[in-house]
Amino acid sequence: MQLISTPEQDQALHLLQTVFGYPAFRSQQGQIVDHVVKGGDALVLMPTGGGKSLCYQIPALIRHGVGIVVSPLIALMQDQVDALAEVGVRAAFLNSTQSFDEALKIERMMREGEIDLVYIAPERLMTQRCLELLSVTPIALFAIDEAHCVSQWGHDFRPEYIKLSVLHERFPDVPRIALTATADQQTRDEIIHRLQLENAMQFVSSFDRPNIRYQIVEKANGRKQLLDFINAQHSGDAGIVYCLSRKKVEETAEFLNENGITALPYHAGMEQSERARNQARFLREDGIVMTATIAFGMGIDKPDVRFVAHLDLPKSIEGYYQETGRAGRDGASANAWMAYGLQDVVQQRRMIDESEANETFKRVQGVKLDAMLGLCETLNCRRVHILDYFGQSSQACGNCDTCLSPPSSFDGTVAAQKILSTIYRVDQRFAAGHVIDVLRGIDTERVKQWRHDQLSTYGIGSDKSEAEWRAILRQMIALGLVSVDYENYSALKLTGRSRAVLRSEITIQLRQYKKAEKAVKHKRQSAKDFSEANLSESEQAIFERLRWWRVETAKAHNTAAFIIFHDSTLREIAKAKPRSMEDLRGVTGVGAKKLESYGAEIVKLIAEFL
Ligand code: ADP
Ligand code: ZN
Repeated sequence: MQLISTPEQDQALHLLQTVFGYPAFRSQQGQIVDHVVKGGDALVLMPTGGGKSLCYQIPALIRHGVGIVVSPLIALMQDQVDALAEVGVRAAFLNSTQSFDEALKIERMMREGEIDLVYIAPERLMTQRCLELLSVTPIALFAIDEAHCVSQWGHDFRPEYIKLSVLHERFPDVPRIALTATADQQTRDEIIHRLQLENAMQFVSSFDRPNIRYQIVEKANGRKQLLDFINAQHSGDAGIVYCLSRKKVEETAEFLNENGITALPYHAGMEQSERARNQARFLREDGIVMTATIAFGMGIDKPDVRFVAHLDLPKSIEGYYQETGRAGRDGASANAWMAYGLQDVVQQRRMIDESEANETFKRVQGVKLDAMLGLCETLNCRRVHILDYFGQSSQACGNCDTCLSPPSSFDGTVAAQKILSTIYRVDQRFAAGHVIDVLRGIDTERVKQWRHDQLSTYGIGSDKSEAEWRAILRQMIALGLVSVDYENYSALKLTGRSRAVLRSEITIQLRQYKKAEKAVKHKRQSAKDFSEANLSESEQAIFERLRWWRVETAKAHNTAAFIIFHDSTLREIAKAKPRSMEDLRGVTGVGAKKLESYGAEIVKLIAEFL
């Protein structure tokens, strides 16, 4: 523990407080800033919402020259620059959306050192013109955001990222800081290797997001369950709903709109301009639900997304965690909700099976999917399971579905044997629906046609509902005890592991099927209190008034509401009821520039109210 701070550290803290209006650094931010200010290279692994941006923004302000931020997210650069302008930092971007004249102006400002931070897309950075510009620009640092884009195994792979090693070769004395929210060791190694960060200091933060409540429910009618969930817990909130296909994205958005929820679609098949418009509305307006494929969301730093829902199973825990991590970046409580069923397992396995990729890639995908299924079927704390996957040990969290209402398990050996022998007796030629019909003794046309009512297993499973059998079968597929033959009408087949179950050599423990519960209304009620100031009725009224002021102000400035102030800041103001600029100065999120821009208005507004 360092007891005496250096002048640079004092300066960093001073900037944090006066420019950004935050009282203290979070987790490792202070050390990272200190390291980069001194000229060191850094690799920063921090979960979404952890506060990565300040780790390069503050050093860029302290060090001489311009901070160059490499980011693949052109669509977000405008908001990032706007947010910095709001706190009085001189920032700009260079990308294909601006005119030649604008670019020229920014290039001139860079050369003269009249700007603190410039965001550049990697393909732009690699042009001869840009590299020459950098060679005559005083550079404070290079920040490589979304650094996992160099990983060929990840789903965000960008070939241009690999070329970024050129920065080190051309500018060996400029510190580089690579940042990502992807935690696995393989990605980390690839970043170090490809960006030549062998000598960089690694800062690995805890990946826990304690304010997010994880919930994975049995899928019955996914859309209807989603609607109940939103109505019960998130009316008026901003959220993201992930679906696998474009068609389902569109249908889900339509369904939500028909039911009174403002939802917008987003997928790669839409016109670029329409996509951009929907994204801008989602960012700027309050309370919009985005239904999207995974094409949506990388780098979306809207702080007040209150829920992320999955109507289809993600391909990996990495993907799931990245997507759910977009909820609750402001630290207030948020929900990650997913509906999951037999069909999801079948569908994901089929997609791997039918992909054109080589065998190694398929094997990696298979392992990742199995890990994801393990999370869905776990009887233990979801958070412990996730963090363990990222190599971090932890204790039962009290803020996930399995902690809040522990699932019961049962010895499923006999049930599994019934399924396996039925699959065997129908010659491994039929899909799940028929196998379950035979088990339950249902007298369908197909059963009659194949005379399956004559089988010894006909009706031996009449004690369980179809949904229960589906849940058991789903777990058996997840466990590799049954496989699905996609080339033959999704027929169920035995596997190498089935035999041991049939011979009772092993027993299997299964999760008890739980009928979908009616979602209960407990808006904002959470096992732990996450930084939401509890407002009294009159404070709530002030808060609403402030929100309304914020909408108007954001419109007038042509920017997003959260760029003016976060909800958490407005809540704190409503609670503090500042009567003077001095009172307002201490509120988290109110820096010097914002105080100057909005302080007087807010103090007046509060005075009117009181
Ligand atoms: P990341 O890029 O890691 O996802 P951001 O840099 O966007 O996260 O930060 C997430 C949120 O946390 C932002 O709204 C930011 O203003 C806020 N934040 C970051 N650092 C601090 C801090 N030290 N104190 C208070 N709020 C912070
Ligand atoms: Zn838990």
